[in-house]
Amino acid sequence: MELRESLRTVDPLVECRSVIRDYRTGGEITRALDDVSMVCLPGRMTVIAGASGSGKSTLLGLVAGLDRADDGLVLVAGADVGSLSRRGRRRLRRDHVTMVMPQPSDNLFDHLSVGENIVWSAGRSGRVVDPVRVLDQVELGHRSQASVREMSGGEQQRVAIAAALAAGAPVIAADEPTASLDRQSAALVIAALRAGAAAGVCVLVATHDEDVIGAADDVVRLDHGRRLS
Ligand code: ADP
Repeated sequence: MELRESLRTVDPLVECRSVIRDYRTGGEITRALDDVSMVCLPGRMTVIAGASGSGKSTLLGLVAGLDRADDGLVLVAGADVGSLSRRGRRRLRRDHVTMVMPQPSDNLFDHLSVGENIVWSAGRSGRVVDPVRVLDQVELGHRSQASVREMSGGEQQRVAIAAALAAGAPVIAADEPTASLDRQSAALVIAALRAGAAAGVCVLVATHDEDVIGAADDVVRLDHGRRLS
């Protein structure tokens, strides 16, 4: 029985099948994603890696329902994101995929305290949480009363990850979360993302930061919109 349990396959929370995304500007077409497939599992940190312009943000945006694929399928928790209405895609971001944006200040309300940000984020999906306990997961439980404005960029990103955890969505999608940070702060953000995966969340990160890539469980490498490995 135990062996059977451990051999049971885990269903992917995110699945992309042969995704194509073209941008049309003027008369030109840029193929941002060219036949990309991937699966992301709960409890694992999957990194979408590649140089600038390789399609990372486009892929993340499709998973979060910010954009639609021209061809192929994007599934989150089994639901076809491309067929969702605008309202359905807003719900997707509220209930299933929490985004963490590259700029720390874009992720938090700076007129609220750190703890209030956590409570607000949880409350959006009707959850009630103890902000200190949530913040403990990213080693910031002692800063619950602090003003967001007092926190460094790296600390703000860790609060943003804690807020995403408080929201209870099964997927956290982080776009270049260490882009504006020094290496030391980035290491703490990576630890916070790993804490999310340890808590069972499907953590999906777009980055070209080698330290983040090195901390991944699974890596999806993109080059000019094509998957390399
Ligand atoms: P990355 O996140 O890896 O830097 P992007 O997904 O942002 O890559 O971009 C992939 C490609 O699509 C690039 O060639 C980029 O110039 C192009 N692109 C991205 N967004 C748009 C847009 N809104 N309109 C036109 N081209 C775009």
